[in-house]
Amino acid sequence: MTQPFDLSAALAERRQQQRYRQRLQQQAPAGREALVNGQRLLNFCGNDYLGLANHPQLVAAFKKAADEFGVGSGASHLVCGHSHYHHALEEQLAEFCGRPRALLFSTGYMANLGVIQALIGKGDAVFEDRLNHASLIDGGLASGARFRRYQHAHAASLAAQLAGADGRRKLVVTDGVFSMDGDVAPLAELADVCEQHQAWLMVDDAHGFGVLGEQGGGCVAAQRVQARVPVLVGTLGKAFGTFGAFVAGSDELIETLIQFARPYIYTTALPAAVAAATLASLALLREEHWRREKLQSMIAQFRQGAAQRGFQLMDSATPIQPLLIGEDGDALALSQRLLQRGFLISAIRPPTVPEGTARLRITLSAAHEPEDIDRLIESL
Ligand SMILES: *Cc1c(COP(=O)(O)O)cnc(C)c1O
Repeated sequence: MTQPFDLSAALAERRQQQRYRQRLQQQAPAGREALVNGQRLLNFCGNDYLGLANHPQLVAAFKKAADEFGVGSGASHLVCGHSHYHHALEEQLAEFCGRPRALLFSTGYMANLGVIQALIGKGDAVFEDRLNHASLIDGGLASGARFRRYQHAHAASLAAQLAGADGRRKLVVTDGVFSMDGDVAPLAELADVCEQHQAWLMVDDAHGFGVLGEQGGGCVAAQRVQARVPVLVGTLGKAFGTFGAFVAGSDELIETLIQFARPYIYTTALPAAVAAATLASLALLREEHWRREKLQSMIAQFRQGAAQRGFQLMDSATPIQPLLIGEDGDALALSQRLLQRGFLISAIRPPTVPEGTARLRITLSAAHEPEDIDRLIESL
């Protein structure tokens, strides 16, 4: 039978470019170690930065709520999928972020699509950092607003673009911690520029929440700009160790999202048990400062060891510590050799990162031990 589309050419091209993606089957829970094909590996590529994804208190909270509410939420939040666990989590996340309200989304990808589409449309303008996460880029493009990218973490580049912009509403969108580089957006400078040009600032702090700031309040807390970032997005699948996402902001912002954010309205609510587990993780994340302290010491140890050996590290003070390689094939080969030596580290290649910047994205966690870091540096 002839096919209406030729899918094979694009697949063959991707293979030939050394960009073919493959999935490994995990045989163990997220954590310090992974188990793949029966081989034990030290896991240096997850986002479970505080080691909470398999914490017994989270698992217990999940089981208890599953006994009470079952597995599926059964409907969207607006129809009948919203439980007291969801509600309590929203209230506690709002308090954690120092904002009047928070709203849960089923994933971070959908939160970003939903917020951008609810806030701007045709006739408006959106300005995004070049290295923003794909969900922010997609949200901007799908909104129908005029779409512009400014130079990475460069407030002056943003200012130049805003100065020439017409657009009724202007929304500036940035990652808090950049997911593939590990550096942090200059939020105070971006907020200055936004205030000068009557633009709104939206920050997606997927990798900063739980990790940065004294209480884990993320990059807005660490940079003391809470009051200057009206739209704040966090995800729950990383340091929180569970699943889902939230938006924190004013009462009007949250009501606007409930009324108009399509990826909020037209999707099934997160399972109540996930919300219950996240309540447990939020409590641990706030109380157990030692997790952030241990993570910081792993980061310091890695950077020090890597610098002593003359590795080219990127300018990152976060648990994302990429080793820039360049060519796609080289990054892939290194990742495979590390796998043979017992390390799980993925090769991140275009289009996830710009051309010529393939890298090993090494991520550190409070679940790691000092000897793990030593072994990693030795093997690199
Ligand atoms: C992981 C990530 C997301 C997506 O979150 P999910 O809950 O996994 O869909 C959004 N933004 C950034 C910056 C991320 O790193």
